[in-house]
Amino acid sequence: MNIIYIQIGSNMGNRISYIERSMQEIEQEIGEVICSSKIYESSPWGVTNQNNFLNSVIKVQTKYSAEIVLKKLQAIEKKLGRVRKEKWGERKIDIDILFFNSEIINTENLKVPHPYIQDRRFVLVPLSEIAINYNHPVLQKDIFTLFKECTDTEKVYEYAI
Ligand code: ATP
Ligand code: CA
Ligand code: CA
Repeated sequence: MNIIYIQIGSNMGNRISYIERSMQEIEQEIGEVICSSKIYESSPWGVTNQNNFLNSVIKVQTKYSAEIVLKKLQAIEKKLGRVRKEKWGERKIDIDILFFNSEIINTENLKVPHPYIQDRRFVLVPLSEIAINYNHPVLQKDIFTLFKECTDTEKVYEYAI
């Protein structure tokens, strides 16, 4: 069995519903959701003039390889109505693999650990909640340390449902 950390974000339409539906689809198609962070709200990273994002990080147990998980996640994004537009543009749903066991994967379609984890408070805040001691296999630092050292100043609030 493989342990993966997955980040789910949405900034269009019924954001909570997109996040909840993705979690249900992940549970059905990929494997058991072992734990999930709270949902956090943050302003968009890298671009402005968009709705705020809601983000959550979940820990999932799966029998599938990283490549298959990526394909399945992309199918879920598609099913939930994601339309691919500009990089970092607004979207109903964005599902990224953050970590896959402690593997380092560097193919054209898949970079694991996700390359921006250490630069994004909207990822580090929920990740700290469920994986504070997880050791980043490339940077060789735990999430606690990455969070402490992160210079991103974006506000990330717990979202009251
Ligand atoms: P970012 O990767 O900076 O968060 P993004 O999520 O907006 O940006 P997308 O347009 O959703 O980027 O994805 C572009 C491509 O990223 C996908 O087609 C996928 O092949 C690739 N990709 C590489 N590594 C990963 C990963 N760890 N998780 C999900 N997609 C990945
Ligand atoms: Ca992303
Ligand atoms: Ca993505």
